Amino acid sequence: MKTALVTGAASGIGNAAAVRLQREGYDVLAVDRDPTGLGPLEEAGMRVLAADLSDDAARASVIEAGRGVDALVNSAGIILLKPILELTVLDLRQIYAVNVEAVWELTSKIGRTMPSGGAIVNLSSSSAKLAATTEAAAYASSKAAVLSITRSFAYAFGPRNVRVNALCPGIIDTPMQDTVLAKAAAARGITVEQLSEERTHSVPLGRAASADECAGAIYFLLSEDSAYMTGQAINFTGGLVMF
Ligand code: NAD
Repeated sequence: MKTALVTGAASGIGNAAAVRLQREGYDVLAVDRDPTGLGPLEEAGMRVLAADLSDDAARASVIEAGRGVDALVNSAGIILLKPILELTVLDLRQIYAVNVEAVWELTSKIGRTMPSGGAIVNLSSSSAKLAATTEAAAYASSKAAVLSITRSFAYAFGPRNVRVNALCPGIIDTPMQDTVLAKAAAARGITVEQLSEERTHSVPLGRAASADECAGAIYFLLSEDSAYMTGQAINFTGGLVMF
């Protein structure tokens, strides 16, 4: 049986990816800092590990538990909305510890133990490619780093036939998206519905996507159907980003 490790599995995209991989026949190890959110996954028969990926010791335990998996999905991530000129180095360290350091460490240290045919998907963001709003600048820069990490490890692991790709989602309906919308709407003095409509208006397909749809793209990047793809930054944006 193939094995998979999914981070951020208690919520949103990571949760949908864990469920999809289990449905596809993987033995899934679901990792998150939120033990309550992991409960339903454990009940569904997954192995679970509650760990804060910004903590060195906890991260090491995740790396140890993930040795030799066939698939790795780095979905754990955090966002901070704060005007760019007010960002402190502590804010940056907090974001980078999860969105950059943990992705680097898991990709590097689990990737080197994966068998031929193994694959990694790192969750970046459309904001890595766009001029981000100044409130999301720290987040956007962390997601740009994810693209570089993905390319570098695609080179490093390519000779062993372990692939590394990044997915760049646009607007996906998840708890993270709800938080972003609520804060941004409050800052602009408009309702969440107004802001939501405004944002999807700029999407050629005219809507946000569900976490389940996003999990489908993740599964494609882990499957044999993408066996000749590595180092890519795949848009999942309804056409919002086309390059
Ligand atoms: P989410 O907030 O719904 O889920 C993120 C999960 O990561 C949560 O369960 C959280 O507990 C976990 N997590 C956060 N910090 C952690 C840590 N230190 N250790 C362990 N677990 C931790 O978010 P989501 O919308 O599902 O986002 C998943 C990924 O996709 C993130 O990397 C995010 O940046 C990216 N993304 C999301 C969207 C979107 O529209 N939702 C768009 C672009 C990119």
